[in-house]
Amino acid sequence: MKYYDVAIIGGGASGLACAAILAKNSRIKAVLIDAGERLGKKLASTGNGQGNLSNVDMTKKHYHGGNIGLAEKIACGDSQVYKRLFNCMFISDDNGRVYPAGKQASSLCDMLIAQLGNTEVIKSKALTLKRGFEITLENGETVKSGRVILCVGGKAQKQFKTDGTAYKLATDLGHTLTGLYPSLVQLKTDTKHIKTLKGIRADCEVSAEASVKKVRGDVIFTDYGVSGNAIFAISPYVADKSGSYITLSFLPEFDENAVYEALNARLKSGVNIEDLLCGTLHNQLGRAIMKRAASDDLRKIVATIKNFTLPVLGTLGFDYAQVTKGGVNMKEVTDELESKIVKNLFFAGEVLDVDGDCGGYNLQWAFASGMAVADEILKRV
Ligand SMILES: Cc1cc2nc3c(=O)[nH]c(=O)nc-3n(C[C@H](O)[C@H](O)[C@H](O)COP(=O)(O)OP(=O)(O)OC[C@H]3O[C@@H](n4cnc5c(N)ncnc54)[C@H](O)[C@@H]3O)c2cc1C
Repeated sequence: MKYYDVAIIGGGASGLACAAILAKNSRIKAVLIDAGERLGKKLASTGNGQGNLSNVDMTKKHYHGGNIGLAEKIACGDSQVYKRLFNCMFISDDNGRVYPAGKQASSLCDMLIAQLGNTEVIKSKALTLKRGFEITLENGETVKSGRVILCVGGKAQKQFKTDGTAYKLATDLGHTLTGLYPSLVQLKTDTKHIKTLKGIRADCEVSAEASVKKVRGDVIFTDYGVSGNAIFAISPYVADKSGSYITLSFLPEFDENAVYEALNARLKSGVNIEDLLCGTLHNQLGRAIMKRAASDDLRKIVATIKNFTLPVLGTLGFDYAQVTKGGVNMKEVTDELESKIVKNLFFAGEVLDVDGDCGGYNLQWAFASGMAVADEILKRV
């Protein structure tokens, strides 16, 4: 049986960040255990392969979960905390999304792996975790460790070995989970009014009934409901609420009055009511709006354009989601992310009940929480 001072279970964004900081103290005997064939495989595919690792607007309004105060302290306390991990140049886009200047997500993995120093890496799935700590692995090995950090992620996209089975490592030790929901994901909606729109993309402002959140971006109509970057961005605000709805406002650059004036002028110029929206909206979308308004009343037509509601029936599920909403209950961890149930057991990243908006917030949380735990352990040894 092998003995280590620290065992990090999960070699994704948070586990690699944690291991990189711990490796700065070469006297600590650390092991990084990961179920995948490649460390940081999910990290390497983030941001469409470009690695959107943070955001310029690092404020608590972009975080959700059980202890927003703590999430804010850790993720937003130093908004550029990632610079402790990555010694490279960065760029940001119009939405504040921060990328490594080379825009290659896999380079983030390369930079982290290069900092692992003497850390031993075991590529095998951790099957059980017992107090003490004793970890049994799928490859038949058993590992003992004085401290354990669970960095096993959530259950979004199981092809990255994040299938949700690892939550058991925490629950077997007495921890509880909140409800788990897919987030940053396509939405299934009532399709009654969008049946004819499959494949059509529209620039919209999307709002969620249950919050003040409004998002501007693309909406793509599908046979199950809606996709597109605006839908991903609004999904954290509806994914865990049953019976919610979203509202699409087409022609987002114009308010209702401006749209009314423009369409009224068209009518006055002699355009037929059936052709009213031609040129202003995609023809199929225009027809769907006229059908839904079911009226020649211009006010009603404009109201349908600006308030196109869709009841949300669910999401496309964890296999399509970028992140898991929910996780290990934040009430069961200290401000240092140590278990209140089992001393010397720590958590970092998506496994906890913290999730962020689209735009770099989830990687910021993963890196910042992984580093915070490593700093705490370095303080104690
Ligand atoms: C396609 C995609 C794109 C994304 N793009 C972005 C983006 O641009 N910006 C952003 O901020 N966020 C993005 N995210 C979300 C972000 O990648 C995650 O929130 C983040 O990686 C979570 O880090 P983590 O360390 O908690 O978990 P992960 O990075 O998921 O790592 C968990 C690790 O644990 C390992 N593991 C699981 N179970 C076990 C076990 N039993 N034993 C051993 N190892 C185990 C897995 O192999 C995995 O390597 C994206 C997610 C996806 C799926």
